[in-house]
Amino acid sequence: MNIKVTNKRVLIRVDFNVPLDKNNKITDDTRIQRALPTIKYLLKSGAAVVIMSHLGRPQKKLNEDGSINVKKFTLEHLRGHLSKKLRKKVQFCPETVGKVANKMAKALKPGEILLVENTRFNKGETKGDEALAKEMSKLGQIYINDAFGTAHRAHSSTATVAKYFGARSKSFGFLMSAEIENANKVINDPERPVTAIVGGAKVSDKILLLDRLIEFADNIIVGGGMAYTFIKAKGGRTGNSLVEEDKLKLALRLLKKAEKRKVNIYLPKDSTIADQFSAKAKREVKDSNKINKGWMGLDIGPDAQKAFSKVILESKTLLWNGPMGVFEMKPYAKGTKAIAKAVAKATKKGAFSLVGGGDSVAAVNQMGLADEVSYVSTGGGAMLEFLEGKTLPGIAAMQK
Ligand code: AMP
Repeated sequence: MNIKVTNKRVLIRVDFNVPLDKNNKITDDTRIQRALPTIKYLLKSGAAVVIMSHLGRPQKKLNEDGSINVKKFTLEHLRGHLSKKLRKKVQFCPETVGKVANKMAKALKPGEILLVENTRFNKGETKGDEALAKEMSKLGQIYINDAFGTAHRAHSSTATVAKYFGARSKSFGFLMSAEIENANKVINDPERPVTAIVGGAKVSDKILLLDRLIEFADNIIVGGGMAYTFIKAKGGRTGNSLVEEDKLKLALRLLKKAEKRKVNIYLPKDSTIADQFSAKAKREVKDSNKINKGWMGLDIGPDAQKAFSKVILESKTLLWNGPMGVFEMKPYAKGTKAIAKAVAKATKKGAFSLVGGGDSVAAVNQMGLADEVSYVSTGGGAMLEFLEGKTLPGIAAMQK
């Protein structure tokens, strides 16, 4: 961050979209934690800091009378926690923009913090509304974007607002810079072999990613529910496993493209199968292409774990997105655990490993391995789109 922030009022867009429980207590504060270095730096440098973020999707869950459910979605829920983490008082403004917000922002002294209300309480936010962005820009003399998690959205607070600040009055925060730098390590001239591990529920969510991975990875490991669409496409019997019938042809096309480019695609040879989608189901280990009707593959099996781990341990660059099974249920978490361990071990041996996307991040955190991989991304959709080669509006807007 090479702009002067001392004695300046700095507007920072962060991604504080954290999960809350029924009592509005934060259940995972990773996103707040990851934005703290930038906020602390600004405070230490003598800036007055105005923080804005979204939380949830308030416009999609309006009250019956069409009004915003403030009680549920207010950013005030985060104020106490943020204050504790910064060991400083955090002022709160019940509007994002407007007279009160402007007055409170202008009254801030260096080292003071103001949190303004949920950006998505404003209808124009998700449309990238110009008037709203202009109002937002009045809150600061400098704009910092540290919200990688929403960088793939062209919203007022993430993209449009940047145009009201000149090149020397705007900057990425430390988190945003780190996300970009680490994703680039995978895409640009990575050390080989490069292995991508892709899992999760559906092929349809990750078509573009797979397509792009085939262009730069040496190995692609496919696990999770999406593996069964590939296995069925190759003529396997997948029983009641999660298969996207309308993606069978596409799966074959991807396999062919990989073959042509000499990219190895690894599918799970065996699976832990169950007779119902439940932790209490009857379970067996079976060849993934010999699953009978009434049974479904819910995790990769022991042979697949071994084979995948071997490939991972021989890699120099690793990218992981998506769990290997229904890891939320203990009997089907073994595959994801084995992969997490292998990625950690490969990292220890000198590989660069990037874990991106909501569920694989949750898995790595759950297993206490977050510190044993090279980088854990805070962006699910944003990281996917970056790796797919798309230009993210939140990044592009800062470079104009
Ligand atoms: P995604 O958001 O696409 O990364 O998918 C994550 C979800 O995929 C998790 O909730 C997993 O429970 C689910 N998942 C992983 N493997 C399977 C499987 N074999 N069958 C059904 N769902 C799965």
